[in-house]
Amino acid sequence: MPELPEVEVVRRQLESHIVGATIQNIWIGRDDIVRQGLGSLPWYTGAQLIDVQRQGKSLSMVCQQGGERRYLVAELGMTGLLLFDRRLVPSEKHLHMTIHLSNSQQGALHYWNARRFGRLYLFDETEWEAYRQRRFGVDPLTVSEEVFLRLIKGCRGRVKALLLNQQRIAGIGNIYANEMLFRAGIHPDAQGNRLSKKRIQLLFEEMQKVLTDAIHRGGSSIRDYLSPDGRRGQFQNYHQVYQKKGQPCPHGCPTSIRRLVSERSSFFCPTCQKR
Ligand SMILES: [Zn+2]
Repeated sequence: MPELPEVEVVRRQLESHIVGATIQNIWIGRDDIVRQGLGSLPWYTGAQLIDVQRQGKSLSMVCQQGGERRYLVAELGMTGLLLFDRRLVPSEKHLHMTIHLSNSQQGALHYWNARRFGRLYLFDETEWEAYRQRRFGVDPLTVSEEVFLRLIKGCRGRVKALLLNQQRIAGIGNIYANEMLFRAGIHPDAQGNRLSKKRIQLLFEEMQKVLTDAIHRGGSSIRDYLSPDGRRGQFQNYHQVYQKKGQPCPHGCPTSIRRLVSERSSFFCPTCQKR
């Protein structure tokens, strides 16, 4: 279930292993996996991969050829994987793309997604810019405290729903939303504009801390997440509330962790986390 930390781990591995590579060709398993730009596929043959960027839970591979730049965007969604070694691909059936590479540490990159329709996009500069504007809110790792404060203060609904809204704040999913709310002592049903400035500042700090710690530990491997070189993340061992229903609160509270079912499951300590 890749969220910002897992996708950032993927990005860093792609950056260190395949940036600078030349694309030999791109194999696409089924045409409808490419949501936009399939006609430009031949352009990528011979292009150089010059950068890999992350927006929320998506990755953009920046390609250059003859003074022109184009972008190959892969959305990892709930189950997507990018892997260097074909033997690590969980099932051939859902292998949707293989990029064959030369002049690089890795000879190929495989895109796998259990969901029948993973999403890939082939964009020119203008289309890529429009996609970024349309889809992604601020990045939790680079947003300023001031902008974050304003976002939360302007939220009349549940703060958790705002954290999960990719068009407002891009990259946080259910795991890290639960973890950061616990660490900041905020109830999952709390309303954004009712939180004190001090509490929002604490949420801002805990958000950046939990995401950064998770990146350093290779992300969380819940279900099948693997990084491109085939390693599992370790941060699931540091979760404090996510999927810990019935377990004692790590702060030693007399209550145990509860689970609330709304749009997504919320895990929280009724003693530590206030509305
Ligand atoms: Zn507690």
